[in-house]
Formats: sequence, structure tokens, C-alpha cells
Amino acid sequence: MADQLTMSPQLLDYVRDFSLREDDVLRELREETAELPGGTALQTHPEEGQFLSLLVRLTGAAAVLELGTYTGYSALCMARALPVDGLLVTCDITDRWPSIGVPYWKRAGVADRVEQRIGDAVAVLGELLAEQGPARFDVVFIDADKANYPRYYEQSLELVRPGGLIVVDNTLFFGRVADPAFTDADTEGVRALNALVRDDDRVEVSMLTIADGVTLARRKEA
Ligand code: CA
Repeated sequence: MADQLTMSPQLLDYVRDFSLREDDVLRELREETAELPGGTALQTHPEEGQFLSLLVRLTGAAAVLELGTYTGYSALCMARALPVDGLLVTCDITDRWPSIGVPYWKRAGVADRVEQRIGDAVAVLGELLAEQGPARFDVVFIDADKANYPRYYEQSLELVRPGGLIVVDNTLFFGRVADPAFTDADTEGVRALNALVRDDDRVEVSMLTIADGVTLARRKEA
């Protein structure tokens, strides 16, 4: 017997059949996104979205920061899990893709909990730190461009409160992290992030093999 499951399409269908609770709003946003060029690869998997929603509830988060809005599927999942007076700040380099998600946020009744920021994520994180000070967020979800992952992680560690959670997406990066043939800036960015997190005494860590790899890093109390 294998000591680790390999996720076949058949088994993934089974997981979805027996756990997914995606409603019409989420499904329609996912279907609209899938029609975009590269949409299916860039979009958060539905079971991962549901996991993010559960994480927000489990941590009792009231303030969440997301880097990489894309069409707003994961933002919708997390915003719904917030209390009514909660806040999700979500940032993307362009308004082009997030604008697709806005009507869905409205339909779900969570648009008033979502604050959009458009711009380079390093700059946006710097602005947030200057405006609101450190340790402002309970959960940070990092899912922007991969080459800058190490910088985003360092900035996120300042912005997340002690005991708060950093969630990093795509940390297995289509399996490329473990294949030395890939030396592009994105793969190297994810590798550098993984090495940084592994050796970082400031956090407790778990690297999950769901979706495209999801790393959880909890900032330790001082
Ligand atoms: Ca992603």
C-alpha cells in the first residue's frame, strides 16, 4: 500500500462529490472565470475556496488580507466567512479581473466587507503598514505573482498579528518546485519562499498537498 495518495481525476471527483457545498453564486463566478484565457489554471479550486472559508471561521478572523484577487472567487469565499462587521482587503495589479467578481460579491451580500486595492502588491503592503500599523490582520492569503513571494511573506509577517495565520497558495507550483529542469523566476520565487518558511522560527508551519500546494504559517506569539 502506498504511504501517500496520488490524486487521480476520479478521486478528485469523489472529494468534490462528498464535500463541496458550492452554491450558485460561486459556481457561476467559477464558470465565468473558466471562459477567460488561462482562467481554469489561475482560479482557486472550489475545494480550496471552501477550505479558505473554513480557515477564516476556525481562526475567528475579523480582518483578512488577500494578495492576488484575480476574479474574486477566493475573496468571495473568505468574505462570506467573516462576521458582518469584518473586513477583507484584497489587492491586485489590475482592476480588469477583480471587476468581474464585484457583481458576485454584491449578489452574495458581502461587497460592503470587501475593500479593493489596485497596484503593485509590495507597494500596497507598504501603504497598509503605514496607514494601519503592524499586526492589523488575522489572516493573510498570499496568491499574487510567484517571483515576489519571499517579499510578500516578509511584509505579511509584519501585517499579521501574533497568533494569526499566513496562507500561501501554489507552494508546489504544478510540481515544478521539485523538478530542477525548471529555473524560471516564478518557480525560483516559490522555492525561495518554501526555504524561507522551513527555516523560519517565527512561525509554526504545515505544508498541505491539496490543490496546487497550500502552506499554512502561524505567526508565533512573542
Ligand atoms: Ca492560486
